[in-house]
Amino acid sequence: MGIAQSPDLMTAVPAAAPGAPPELRVGGLTPLTTVDYPGELAAVVFCQGCPWRCRYCHNGHLLPPRSPDLIPWAEVRTFLQSRRGLLDAVVFSGGEPTLQPTLAAAMNEVRALGFKIGLHTSGAFPARLKALLPLLDWVGLDIKALPADYPAVTGVPGSGERAWASLALLLDAGVAFQVRTTPMPGRDGPAELAVLRERLAALGVRDHRVQRCRTEHTLDPSLAEPNPGG
Ligand code: SF4
Repeated sequence: MGIAQSPDLMTAVPAAAPGAPPELRVGGLTPLTTVDYPGELAAVVFCQGCPWRCRYCHNGHLLPPRSPDLIPWAEVRTFLQSRRGLLDAVVFSGGEPTLQPTLAAAMNEVRALGFKIGLHTSGAFPARLKALLPLLDWVGLDIKALPADYPAVTGVPGSGERAWASLALLLDAGVAFQVRTTPMPGRDGPAELAVLRERLAALGVRDHRVQRCRTEHTLDPSLAEPNPGG
C-alpha cells in the first residue's frame, strides 16, 4: 500500500482541547485509490500502531503506537468533507486499525459524511472487530497462514487463533469481505497455499486473493535475499 500525504493536509491545526477525548492516531493518508475497496473510489486512512511484527511487513513506520509524524484527525476530517460526492468510501487500514479504541468514533464520523466504510485488518482483535461490524460495509481480512503457523510470520504466539476467530465472525456476520494472503518468501510455496485455500473454501470463503510479497523495505531484510529463510 502506498502512503501519501496530500499537500493540503500538512497545514497546522490547533491541538485537541485539554480533556477532549483522544482522537484516532493517523500515520498516513492516500487521497484516492481504486484498488483498496473493490469497485469503489476510496481514500485510505492509515492508522498508527500494530501489535504484530510480520517479517514481510513493509509498513514499519506504522507499527509503533505513536509517531511524531501523525496527521491530526481534524485534517483528515477537513479533507474528507472536501471529497463528499467525489469519493464513495473510506478504508481504515494500518498498522492495525482495531488497535485503537477511537476507531468506532472515527468511523461514525466518516459514515455521517456519507461514505461507505471499509476496513483492512489482520483480525488481531476479534472482540473489537465484532463490535465494529454494524459500522462496516466491506472488510479485507489478512489470513496469513494456518493458525499454528502464524507465530513464524507475526512473531506473536496465539496470533493465528485470533485471526481465524475474526474470520469466523465475518463468515457469520454477513458483511462483504475478502480474505487476503501474502505468501512468506522461503516458507509458503504452492503446497502450503493449496492447503490454506482448501481450508478456507471448506469454511465458506468465496473471495480469497493471494498477494505478491513485496520484499523491498520489509521488517526482515533477509526476505529480499535469493534464499530467504534458508
Ligand atoms: S499485521 Fe503484520 S503486515 Fe500488517 S501492519 Fe501489522 S506487522 Fe505489518
